[in-house]
Amino acid sequence: MRDIRCLIRRHRWESRHNPEVEGPKGDYQTCARCGEDKAGYEAPPKNMYRGVWG
Ligand SMILES: [Zn+2]
Repeated sequence: MRDIRCLIRRHRWESRHNPEVEGPKGDYQTCARCGEDKAGYEAPPKNMYRGVWG
């Protein structure tokens, strides 16, 4: 069952990375509650990932 916030399109987006896609195009966002992928590609703030992928 979906969270009411998801039903009104207020998803809780989390940044993920597709290991099969190299570079920033492999970054995407998915909802932590319902698992829906965010449509389209949005570049996350660079400082958000500082040191994480190295
Ligand atoms: Zn959701």
